[in-house]
Amino acid sequence: MTTQPEKLNFDVLIIGGGIAGIEAAINIANNGFKVILAEKDLTIGGKMLLLSKVFPTLDCSACITTPKISEADRHPNITIFTNTEITSIEKQDATYFKANLVKHTRFVEEEDCTGCQLCEEACPVVVPDQYQYGMVGRKAAYIPFNIASPRVATIDIDNCILCGACEKACPTHCINFMQADKNYRLIVKSVIVATGFKLFDATKIQRYQYGTAKNIINAMQMERLLAPTRPYNHVIRPGDGRVPDKIAYVLCTGSRDFTVGNPICSQICCMYSLKQAQLLMGALPMADVTIYYISIRSFGKGFEEFYEQAKSMGINFVKGKIGNITEKENGNLILRYEDVASGRLKESEHDLVVLSVGVVPNEDASSLFGDAEWKQDAFHFPLQKDLLFNPSLSNINGIFMAGTTTGPMDIPDAILSAGAASMEAIQYIQKTAL
Ligand SMILES: Cc1cc2nc3c(=O)[nH]c(=O)nc-3n(C[C@H](O)[C@H](O)[C@H](O)COP(=O)(O)OP(=O)(O)OC[C@H]3O[C@@H](n4cnc5c(N)ncnc54)[C@H](O)[C@@H]3O)c2cc1C
Ligand code: SF4
Ligand code: SF4
Repeated sequence: MTTQPEKLNFDVLIIGGGIAGIEAAINIANNGFKVILAEKDLTIGGKMLLLSKVFPTLDCSACITTPKISEADRHPNITIFTNTEITSIEKQDATYFKANLVKHTRFVEEEDCTGCQLCEEACPVVVPDQYQYGMVGRKAAYIPFNIASPRVATIDIDNCILCGACEKACPTHCINFMQADKNYRLIVKSVIVATGFKLFDATKIQRYQYGTAKNIINAMQMERLLAPTRPYNHVIRPGDGRVPDKIAYVLCTGSRDFTVGNPICSQICCMYSLKQAQLLMGALPMADVTIYYISIRSFGKGFEEFYEQAKSMGINFVKGKIGNITEKENGNLILRYEDVASGRLKESEHDLVVLSVGVVPNEDASSLFGDAEWKQDAFHFPLQKDLLFNPSLSNINGIFMAGTTTGPMDIPDAILSAGAASMEAIQYIQKTAL
């Protein structure tokens, strides 16, 4: 059931509440403009909120994201809609756009939910937890994780058996199975697309056995194992809960690889693998960590020193592309590779393998703009009209782009890009108002 659209006016619509979208929202709001930040997930924060620490400083990622989140949350010029889908955006004339939004129901009255999680305790249904990348379960009545923003429960109606246990347990009676999606019609002067990136799906490389071999995980799963909001209190291998002692990293999984249609370098995988390997040396001091690589790309400020630091900590580096991985009966993995140093084919055994998956485009925005064609580059990222001088300009006047929407980049670059997009949007509004 849906309702008639409510009409709202803002200066800027920002699509996507990752670090780039949040940063752009704060910049624009601080300049006195009204912003709506529309996020499709149940929480803002994007991938950064789920990371362990950040390279090359090893600051806690959640600790530096949450102050930004609360600044956006409390800002009088920022309205945040989570669990929201933008269905269309139409340019009306040089001065404004019309956008249609659906705020999906949580089946919970947000303003009355205290985040007490009693519904979660009472719910008997367990399904894989998407915020822990499937490594543990969550309930059908759930809060994504402790530092989610807003910290409000949601009923996952697709898996709910309508037993009513959550309703009975809720002390504020805020669970409402009759709650419907809400439609909104926005008038905005400018739009920033900050929908971020997707992770390469490692099941596409069948010879790496991701999804079939139990002790092969991707790097985002390792981030979760190392993060403060981690699923277990330990780094363990998912197959049998054993603490691993011989861990392998397979760099460039799904990057720089024509065979999977992604020839570009993802820019972040070498560095996040070096980071995770260093964190593992701290978490599991007796473990042996080996990084298999084509070439280490440590191009940023402090990155080469970070690489040297990893080497000095005893992390092993093997130059060679992994050909295939096979699983032994005990769950260990045999990696077959060409050792470039000796020019020979070799095999090595590890008890946990981490696939350093690459960055692929999120093409959500491509269907939003109707007749105003949203152009893409050869790699399916949105076309940057002026890559050198105005990288945040899209091919549609008045629509700007921030962060990894436009291509792979790390957090500092996503923040810089958000700064550029927000200033372009402000200038555009000021010019078109004249
Ligand atoms: C394993 C791993 C480790 C990393 N470690 C580091 C590190 O240590 N240091 C570092 O600098 N970088 C690191 N990065 C890179 C970092 O995650 C990115 O630079 C950063 O998250 C980019 O932020 P973003 O806002 O551009 O995109 P995202 O974080 O992808 O955020 C995009 C947001 O948009 C929302 N969205 C998507 N589509 C829509 C839609 N249609 N409508 C509404 N909302 C939508 C998403 O739900 C999300 O909230 C790492 C990345 C990975 C994968
Ligand atoms: S009604 Fe649905 S969400 Fe609530 S406790 Fe039962 S299964 Fe869980
Ligand atoms: S829905 Fe009710 S029980 Fe669940 S977290 Fe909110 S207030 Fe607590």
